[in-house]
Amino acid sequence: MGNVKTDDFWAVFNSAPDAYLLLAPDPPHFTMVAANDARLRVTMTRREDVEGRPLFEVFPDNPDDPEASGVRNLLASLNQVLRTRKSHRMPLQKYDIRTPDGKFEERYWDTLNTPVFDDEDNLIYIIHRVEDVTNRVETERMLAQESAARARYRLLTDMIPQLVWTTDANGYHRYFSRRWHEFTGTTLDDAEGSGWMNYLHPDDRDRMLTRWQHSLDTGEPYSIEYRVRGADGKYRWFLGQAVPLRNEAGEIIEWFGTLTDIEDRKRLERERDQLLESVTDAFFAVDGDWRLTYTNQEAIRLLKRSRDEIIGRKLWDVFAHASDTIFQHEYERAVKEQKAVQFEAFAPVSGIWVDVRAYPNGTGLSVFFHDITKRKQAEQRLRESEEQFRTLGNTIPQLAWMADSTGSIFWYNDRWLDYTGCTLREMAGWGWRKVHHPEHVDRVVKKIRHSFETGEPWEDTFPLRGKDGEYRWFLSRALPIRDANGDIVTWFGTNTDITEELDARNEAERRREELEQVTESRTRLMRGFTHDVKNPLGAADGYAQLLEDGILGDLSEKQLESVHRIRKSLQTSLHLINELLELARAEAGQIEVERESVDVAELARESAEDFRAQANASDLEFEIDITTSLPAVTDPTRVRQILSNLLSNAVKYTPAGRIRVTADHRRKEPQSNENCIAISVDDTGPGIPPDKREVIFQEFSRLDPEAEQGAGIGLAISRRIARILGGDITVESEMNQGSSFTLWLPAAS
Ligand code: ADP
Repeated sequence: MGNVKTDDFWAVFNSAPDAYLLLAPDPPHFTMVAANDARLRVTMTRREDVEGRPLFEVFPDNPDDPEASGVRNLLASLNQVLRTRKSHRMPLQKYDIRTPDGKFEERYWDTLNTPVFDDEDNLIYIIHRVEDVTNRVETERMLAQESAARARYRLLTDMIPQLVWTTDANGYHRYFSRRWHEFTGTTLDDAEGSGWMNYLHPDDRDRMLTRWQHSLDTGEPYSIEYRVRGADGKYRWFLGQAVPLRNEAGEIIEWFGTLTDIEDRKRLERERDQLLESVTDAFFAVDGDWRLTYTNQEAIRLLKRSRDEIIGRKLWDVFAHASDTIFQHEYERAVKEQKAVQFEAFAPVSGIWVDVRAYPNGTGLSVFFHDITKRKQAEQRLRESEEQFRTLGNTIPQLAWMADSTGSIFWYNDRWLDYTGCTLREMAGWGWRKVHHPEHVDRVVKKIRHSFETGEPWEDTFPLRGKDGEYRWFLSRALPIRDANGDIVTWFGTNTDITEELDARNEAERRREELEQVTESRTRLMRGFTHDVKNPLGAADGYAQLLEDGILGDLSEKQLESVHRIRKSLQTSLHLINELLELARAEAGQIEVERESVDVAELARESAEDFRAQANASDLEFEIDITTSLPAVTDPTRVRQILSNLLSNAVKYTPAGRIRVTADHRRKEPQSNENCIAISVDDTGPGIPPDKREVIFQEFSRLDPEAEQGAGIGLAISRRIARILGGDITVESEMNQGSSFTLWLPAAS
């Protein structure tokens, strides 16, 4: 300093841009010897406040900052300079400054303490130079904070499942999250700027870029679905969303975007779409705002609109003429009551009849429908023909009704309503059950249900209650009427009153039972009677025979003649009683036959021979013309009994002429090829009138009731027995010429 004048020195000191303070080496005071202008300025002090005063009295620590370390660190630095006699530069130090109004201001300082020596090397001063670095520190701290924030932000973007990108205010992509790079297999160089566009699906690119440009132009956020190509070359669906970040002035400083992987959801949607496409019904869905959210291909076809025309739009805007129709009413009801609805209606939009089913789905509605125009037309046609049925149904004498395919009755003819005294309303559906008898109704319902379910024709018999409260019986039938496809459309049923027939049948049954009882008791009576009569008559005949044979002594001619007549009368009576007994047996079904192999020719010859004497006694020619043998399996006693009846009749009723007996194989009817044995007894008697030829076979029938011979039972019994033997008796006759009775028997096979 030797060359510089003292005044000059102070001038230089004062004008130096850095802040200097000259301190005395008098610890712990470090009295401030001098301060330059710059120093006074940065510490907001006046020269008289500092010069000559201890350093720390004027510059104490900020009492409000418990962490303040300024005094301690500066003292340590100054002491170090005294000890080491070397300069010491303090690390950046926070040292708050008291302002003139007494408050402390936050300050940071870069401090250098330098010793000053005299010629004898004595340390005479310490130069304390400070630089106010408060601004610099502040900036650095902000920068540090910012970089920490950015690091956190990156960390965050790397951690969330979404892919993240950011752009500058102009939309220049300058950051992609680690996940973005991992998915696309790219580096920042590949994707930066507009490089990312190469990874969009070509079909989605234009749509996506238009939307992005729109956001850049308007600052509107966007949310859009598009596909991005992964490192494996496969595209996945993402929900892309972007929002602008703005500064305090509201200017966009950055765009922040995310991509959320929605591939799984899209796949489910695709599967759902495929499913909905595969249902043959048309389908559409609306959300809670009645906006169409989905339609399948069939719906597009039937609604005659393109998907773009309807998706996202309100149902009643798209189909204005359906508003305030059954469609709107039913859909609203489904949503309001939260239950499925079903209806059929004509859809003017499509010009077809549709069957509609709508199901509420949370907030909106799912609607399925299909074309039923053909069925409706068929129904319509069925209704020109249903009308015919109705007319027809009213002309028939039966009760009649019609039911739909499920068996629900919708029409009764007038006769039905009149008979039951009920109205259609009461009887409709299954209402008819109330006119059924409680004991029958369950059975009837079960059976008719079976028919309705299977389509089998129905038939049943049951009582129905009339309006007078009386039940009458009806035979009931129903048939299904089918359409061209074979599907049942209507059941047509009738109920026929069979009460009288049933009564008649019951009456006949009652009579039959009665008759059986009568016959039974008659048979019993007859058997008792014949027994009681036959035995005394037999005894009487026995005694008469004793007289006749002279065992009781010789009789005169006249006496013998009387005994002879007594015996004849007794035998006639016995014969009659035997016949009556046989008839009683026959009527009671008690005639027993015992079959054996016999030659009927032989039988017939023997039977005929028994009558030769009798015929001759009556002056009748008697001829037996039997040559062949006629084997049969039959009851010989019964055959003989029948032939005796025929032969005795022939002898009885033929006053003159001839009796001829023949037997051979013959066909009973010319067409029949059944070979029978026929034994005929021909006479030359009075003949039998045509109208009597069957009558004579009935019990107690005689052509001449006055005639003394016979009771009119013989032929009746004979025919019965012949039939039991598998044969019959027939008669041919010519008045005044004669009769021919033939016994038919089955020939041995
Ligand atoms: P019965 O001879 O005991 O009266 P039948 O039943 O044998 O009873 O015959 C019924 C009736 O048929 C006779 O009463 C008779 O009038 C008539 N009849 C039967 N055989 C002959 C015959 N060969 N020629 C004419 N009439 C006959």
